[in-house]
Amino acid sequence: MTGSVKFDIGGVPVKRLKLSNLPAKHDFKVVYPRTPGSIDPNNPPWPAFRGYHTYSFANATMGHRLPTILGKAIDDVVQTLNELSDEDMIVDLVKCIERMASLKEELTEHALLRPIVDDGEADVALWNKEIAKYFRGKDFMNAPWLFAEAYKYRRLRECFSISKHWSTYDVFFRQKCDTFSRSNDAVFELSTRFCEPFKQDSKQSSADNLESLRLMFLELTQVCLWGNSTDLSLLINMTEDQIKALQSTGGEALAETEKNILGNHMARLWEVVRDLKRDSLDGTGGRIDFVLDNAGFELYCDCVYADFLLQSGLASTIYFHGKRYPWFVSDVTKKDWEWLLNSMVYGQLFPKATAQEKEGLKRLGLRWKKYVQEGRWVYEQHPFWCTGYTFWEMRNEAPDLFLHLSKSDLVIFKGDLNHRKLTYDCAAPYATSFDVAIGPMASSPGAPRVCSLRTIKSDVVVGLGSAGDGDGEEVGEKLDREEPGWKISGKYAVVLLSEGRPGEEVTFA
Ligand SMILES: [Mg+2]
Repeated sequence: MTGSVKFDIGGVPVKRLKLSNLPAKHDFKVVYPRTPGSIDPNNPPWPAFRGYHTYSFANATMGHRLPTILGKAIDDVVQTLNELSDEDMIVDLVKCIERMASLKEELTEHALLRPIVDDGEADVALWNKEIAKYFRGKDFMNAPWLFAEAYKYRRLRECFSISKHWSTYDVFFRQKCDTFSRSNDAVFELSTRFCEPFKQDSKQSSADNLESLRLMFLELTQVCLWGNSTDLSLLINMTEDQIKALQSTGGEALAETEKNILGNHMARLWEVVRDLKRDSLDGTGGRIDFVLDNAGFELYCDCVYADFLLQSGLASTIYFHGKRYPWFVSDVTKKDWEWLLNSMVYGQLFPKATAQEKEGLKRLGLRWKKYVQEGRWVYEQHPFWCTGYTFWEMRNEAPDLFLHLSKSDLVIFKGDLNHRKLTYDCAAPYATSFDVAIGPMASSPGAPRVCSLRTIKSDVVVGLGSAGDGDGEEVGEKLDREEPGWKISGKYAVVLLSEGRPGEEVTFA
C-alpha cells in the first residue's frame, strides 16, 4: 500500500502523483532588496521587522512597551477625571477611558487591525486605504512593526476624537511639559549662551569668521542631534540623573560623543549650509525645513539651532513640521510648540533659577516669537506625518507635501521614527548607502537634500562606513558581538546626508 495514498480531486479519488521525473525542489531565497515594483507597505525593500519576531525590539515594543504606555496614558486621564465636576464632561471622559481599555485589550490579545472610524480627521481615508490594500487580516503582531505601532497611536487618537468634549485631549501633555521643566541645567546652559543676539567679531578676518561659524555649526548640530536622546517613549524607566547625563551639552562631552556618530556626514553638511549663504542673492541664506521629533527639551534644542541658522545668515526661513495630534508619546504638536514659546516668556517653570537665567530664557523666547510673527519661522502640520506610510510613499500619497519639500534647500529629519520612515524600517545591511536606503526620497526628480539627525533607538541601521567598502558591515557586526543593545540605547547616532535631485521638475504619473 505504500506510495499509493488516495486523495480527492473534485470528488474523484485518485492516487498521489509521484513526480519522480520532475526536477528536485530548490531551496531558494527571496532576493533583497526587492525590485521597486514589488515593494509595498507589507513588503519593504528588505525584510520587515514584525512584532512576532521573538527577542526583537519590535516584539518588546508591541508586547510590552506599548501596553505600558497605554496604561500610563489611562492613569493620566484618570487624574484628569478626578479633577472634574461637570457630569456631562465626566460621563464623556469615562467613555474615552473605556475605549482606551479596550484598545489595550486588543493590543495584548493581538486583535486584527480594523479600519479607523470616521472622526473627521484629514487622514482617515489615507489610513483606511492602506489597511484595505495591504493589511486585511493582519494583526498587531504580524503586520510590520512600523505600521502596527503607528496604527496604535491613531487608535489612541480615535478614543478621544469621537468624544463630545475631549477631542483635543493629549494624554501625554503632562509628561512632555515635565521633561522640559526637569531639564533646567541644559536649558540654561544654552539660553545663557544664546540669549544675546549673535554677532561675528568685526576685528577678525572673514576667513576666521567663517571658521568660527563652522565650529559653532558643528557643535550646534551635535546639540540638536543629542537633544534627541530624551525620547519619552523610551525613558519610562530612567532616573532623573540618567536623563541629565544624556542631555549634557558641555563642549567636552560633545567631542567625546562625536566618536559615537557611526555614519557621519557633518563635514559635507557644513559645506551645504555654507553655500546656502554664499549662493543666496542677498546673503541671507536658504530655506531649511525641520521635520520634528520630540517636544520639550529636544524641540528647545531644535529652536536654538534654527535660531543660529537664521542669525548667522545660513538660513532665511525655517519651516517646522509637527504632528496634528499626540503621536509616539513625545512628538511635537501645535500645542507643544506654543507651550514652549509661551512658557519661556511667561511661565514660571524654574522657581530655583537666578534672575539672570530667567531673564535670558525670556529674551530668547521673545526673539523666537518675533520670528514666528515675521514669518521667518513657520510651523506646519501636514496630515501625512501621522500616518503609517513611510516616506518612500510620500510622493504618491502626499504629492502636495513632496512638492512643498522639494522647494526646500535642506530638509532635516529629526529622530528615530523619522529615520525608520525614511529607510522603510527594514533589515537593510549596515553598509547600505543612505541614498539607496531612502529610495525615492533621494532618487525622484526634485527630491530635496535630506539630512537625518538620529540617535539610534531601534533596529534599522544603515549608512555605516563609506559606501560599498564593506567597513560598515564590520562596524555593525562588531557592535552586535560586543555591545548587545547598542541599537536601542541612544548612545550611538548617525548624521546622514542625501544630495537628492534638487531643482529638477517634480512630475506625478
Ligand atoms: Mg518621538
